[in-house]
Order: sequence, then C-alpha cells, then structure tokens
Amino acid sequence: MADIGNKPSTWDDANVKANVQAVIDDSRMDHLGDVGDIRHLAGAGDHTPYSTHKGKNGYPTQGKVHAHDFKMSQADQNKFENWVRLEWKAGRLKGLKYMNVNNRHWNIQTTANWNKAKAGTIKSTYSGDHHVHLSYENGSVESDLIKRWIAYRDGAKPSTPTPTPVAQKEGEMYRVVKLRGSDKPVTWFGNYITRRWIRDEKDLNEYLKMAGQAKVIEVDTAAELDKYGVVVGANPTA
Ligand SMILES: [Zn+2]
Repeated sequence: MADIGNKPSTWDDANVKANVQAVIDDSRMDHLGDVGDIRHLAGAGDHTPYSTHKGKNGYPTQGKVHAHDFKMSQADQNKFENWVRLEWKAGRLKGLKYMNVNNRHWNIQTTANWNKAKAGTIKSTYSGDHHVHLSYENGSVESDLIKRWIAYRDGAKPSTPTPTPVAQKEGEMYRVVKLRGSDKPVTWFGNYITRRWIRDEKDLNEYLKMAGQAKVIEVDTAAELDKYGVVVGANPTA
C-alpha cells in the first residue's frame, strides 16, 4: 500500500532498498510504497518493521521492512509475472519470499513451495493485490532483482532487433545461443569453428566433447544475448 510518498524507507533492508530505488528510477514503474499504512502497521506483515512472516531463511530481521509495492502497465505486469516464474524455475530469485501480482499470490515461503516453483508446478492463490507486491527473504540476496527485470524487459523491446529463430538442420556446424528457460534458439554461434578437420556434425560433436564445450550456449539475460548478437551472424544457411 502507498503510504509515505515516493521514498524508500530508512527501515528498509539494504537489499530491499536497492530494489525500491531501481523502481523509483525507472520511468515505466510506479513505486507505491514500502512501509505499510496504518492498516498495515497494525498487522504483522512484511510492510512493517516487525513482520512475523517466516521464510526459508527464518524470521525477518526486526526493525527492517521486507516488502515493497509498485505497478506498471498491464502488458509489463504480465511479462513480469512470467519472468519471475521462469527465474524461480531456473532456481534463481532465492531471495524472493513471495509475489502478489494480477490478483495472484505466488508463495515460495517454504522449501516445499520453492521446490514446486522450480518444478514449475506451483499454483497461485487469490490475492487482493493487482499491483506488484514483493516480499523478500531475510538477508535477501536479490538486490539486483529489479535491475535484472529492466534488462530483460528492455532487451525484449521491439526497438532491439531480435534475430529470427531458425530450426537447426542436421549436418550444420553451428552452436545455438539462447536465453536460459526459453526453448527458442535466437542466434547461431558459427564463426568459432576454425579447424579444418571439422567437416560435419559428427566432427563438431567430437570437437565439442573434447573441448568440454556445450553445443547449446545458455545465457541468463537478454543483455548477454545481445553481446553474442554483436559478434555472431545469423545462421548463414537459414
Ligand atoms: Zn504490498
């Protein structure tokens, strides 16, 4: 709930504060508040400096606020919800305790629920929050959560040219570079092969095995993907 104006609270956990600041600095998100209003302060939630909402790391540090609220366009909010779920599934965002968004409550407060999130089988329950509410684990390590989201969001903007996904054909000597969690190969890493004895797929596979390299290169952020896009051409046979 909004309450203290657009300022991060001095009560915030340092990691939460970094995320609050990133929201405030971004033109496509509106910070709604972090310390709860009177109604919140009367309770015991993560919007208060005396939360009793136990997470995987135990109880929140007293005197620190562990949640913040913000909103963005519906399209961004849908994308954000999916991105968080993919990050969970990839075993990341361990410092996020739960998320409310689009009237859904995604709770990974317990180890059992964290495992469900990783398996992609976690179910949401109803939440009164349509805006985004993030609650962080005690001693959260997700201080760059919002920055990572922005990098992902902006990397996916139409203004950034996205290589056309192409299916790999048998016999082609190219490695695939793709975003982790996505099944779309987005570019081809072809020009690393300089050895003449690599003539076909079989040679390539043997070379990769010998060199201890993966055929599919997975990157974590759209920004990393863009770096490959600079040095790597599209699949020349596509
Ligand atoms: Zn909230």
